[in-house]
Amino acid sequence: MSDPVLTFLAPRVLDLGPTSATPPDYVHWRLTRDRENVAWAVLDKAGVSANTLSEDVLLELDKILDRLEVDRPRGLVIRSGKPAGFIAGADVRQFVGAADPQAIETQMAKAHAIIDRLERLTIPTVAVVHGYALGGGLEIALACHLRIAVEGASFGFPEVQLGLHPGLGGVARFTNLIDPLQAMSFMLTGKTIHTAQAKALGLVDVVVPERHVRSAVAAAARGELRAHEPGFIDRLKEAGPARRLAAARMRQEAEGQAPSAHYPAPYALIDLWEQYGGDDAALKLAEQASFAKLVVSEAAQNLIGVFLLREKLRGLGSAESQIKRVHVVGAGAMGGDIAAWCAWKGLQVTLGDVKAEPIAGAIKRAAELYGKISHGDRLAERDALDRLTPDLKGDGVRHADLVIEAAPEKTDLKKSIYAGLEPQMKPSAILATNTSSIRLEMLSEGLARPERFVGLHFFNPVSRMQLVEVVSHEGLAGDVADAARAFVAGLERLPAPVRSAPGFIVNRALTPYLLEAVAMIEEGIAKETIDQAAEDFGMPVGPIELADQVGLDICLAVADMLKRELDWDMPETPDWLRQKVEAGKLGRKSGEGLYVWRDGKAIKAGGASDPDPDMGDRLVLPMINTCAELLAQGVSDDPDVIDAAMIFGAGFAPFRRGPLHYAKQRGLAQVRERLEALEVKFGRRFRPSDGWSRLEA
Ligand code: NAD
Repeated sequence: MSDPVLTFLAPRVLDLGPTSATPPDYVHWRLTRDRENVAWAVLDKAGVSANTLSEDVLLELDKILDRLEVDRPRGLVIRSGKPAGFIAGADVRQFVGAADPQAIETQMAKAHAIIDRLERLTIPTVAVVHGYALGGGLEIALACHLRIAVEGASFGFPEVQLGLHPGLGGVARFTNLIDPLQAMSFMLTGKTIHTAQAKALGLVDVVVPERHVRSAVAAAARGELRAHEPGFIDRLKEAGPARRLAAARMRQEAEGQAPSAHYPAPYALIDLWEQYGGDDAALKLAEQASFAKLVVSEAAQNLIGVFLLREKLRGLGSAESQIKRVHVVGAGAMGGDIAAWCAWKGLQVTLGDVKAEPIAGAIKRAAELYGKISHGDRLAERDALDRLTPDLKGDGVRHADLVIEAAPEKTDLKKSIYAGLEPQMKPSAILATNTSSIRLEMLSEGLARPERFVGLHFFNPVSRMQLVEVVSHEGLAGDVADAARAFVAGLERLPAPVRSAPGFIVNRALTPYLLEAVAMIEEGIAKETIDQAAEDFGMPVGPIELADQVGLDICLAVADMLKRELDWDMPETPDWLRQKVEAGKLGRKSGEGLYVWRDGKAIKAGGASDPDPDMGDRLVLPMINTCAELLAQGVSDDPDVIDAAMIFGAGFAPFRRGPLHYAKQRGLAQVRERLEALEVKFGRRFRPSDGWSRLEA
């Protein structure tokens, strides 16, 4: 029998049309013809694992179109030669540092001309999409007459997350093809569209398994596949008055998600559609100018920077992970969810605990999670559940390549667990802890193989939080650190390497921010006003709401630990806060914390007064000051890792590209002066860190 792990990871075999014996004429494309005289243009961008659109790729497509216009085939198929997917969008690196909108507009006009030419071909053109078709990739597919989706494919316009909107004719083509309100909603949110929904919307014309691609293509070339046509009602929605009304509502909804003061792209997109919807030529022209203006904006440059930070962290774990079997100790909130996620990502997982109930609870939660994230793929759900084995006795420990401990946060308990585990583990296996606060040096005392002991600090909830702090200590072997990062990246999580230190990066930098908010409550400032001040800065939620989301018990435990471990001036934690925790008012999870929570939402009083101008800096600068301190102390030597950890682990305002980058953009000297002024007014806790001189250097 084949190994289920290997089967899961095996690349699929794609039907890429006939092979050619002659040397290729193109660097990135392969052009062949099948027996029915259908041309297959297969994009397999040289030197990379995923296709992106760049100038050279489009110029080659232009040459292919030259050839097809002279020697007309019966039809044209465009598909990708990469196992992972179709085209992942434009190569954003080409926009880094762009400052001249005119130059961008000229570049976009050239690209538009090539894609318009593809659309104008008079033979049937078919995009065959497997895996993903994103951004510019989807825009190429939209310029074809028909779209065939291979089962499991997904589609989306993630441009807004980069501070942009579609720029290769996508706004016009997408709003033309399907219900324009739905099209706008997908472009405004960047949400992924899976096959069933894509078919229902009319974005794709047929969904087939890979083995039926060839016959679907032949049917398309013979004119037997009907392309989706927008309905009468869809067109009515694009009529002038209806469009203006819809645009006003879209603006209002967007304000709640991405305020216009910080995120210009959604509003530029709404303006475009409101002004030119229904007039393709005008819309495409205006789209180029609007896109060019956005690319050079500070928000887009910073959001592109965030995209590159994500790539950088991914790259830190780029080696192929050798870990196939994982045993998790402790099936509570974290252990259960870590186990579920590992099984979902194709690993064989055993899950242990001292009691059966938490294991049963974790398996139930896993089934619920898979039901949500499988998009109806029952087979994938069942396979993942098959890979997740309850293991009360701990039989899996002996076979595991990695054992992750997620038992309660008590040093002695964790050490006694290791004493039982280590002798049973394979000598080559890695032992990891999910501790959020205990120094690894303390936990590794008494281990036979401390060099194979590492921290893997996952965040809650594991299925949504992208960051994992990979915690090293003096005695950690280099290959184990490499393997731990590769394991994290293999789980589609972002590994941030950090040195063992109290609170690592995220909890340490968040704590002064949360405690300052508590100090403001003590001063009598309304909670809603405090949250508003942070949101005005660009945080997705304010500190009071965040503390409730994390859990007041956890915040308090981290703050106490940091005060114990560090010689650090921090606002006192007031008695009323401790009493709240003792009374079980822990935040969202218990229904009440600093706010009362209903249906997962904090109930906030209306009419909060405007925040005092000092408040934003009072909240945010201590967090940034701590980030500078973390750099000075070498908890990480890389400002990018600190910035990325705060964005992906704590939600730091993404359009500011991280706390340290923000400080640089604002001016390091200015930030330091501001901290000094706040120190005079509010006390030592605002004293600038030594880390600033390092950053200034
Ligand atoms: P939890 O209390 O929800 O779960 C702990 C589980 O460990 C329980 O099911 C318990 O029965 C089990 N357990 C107790 N003794 C055990 C033993 N000797 N052997 C095996 N299992 C045992 O705790 P949690 O919130 O999941 O936290 C676990 C770890 O993760 C802690 O180190 C915590 O600091 C860390 N962490 C927690 C969060 C969070 O938000 N909860 C976030 C990041 C990290």
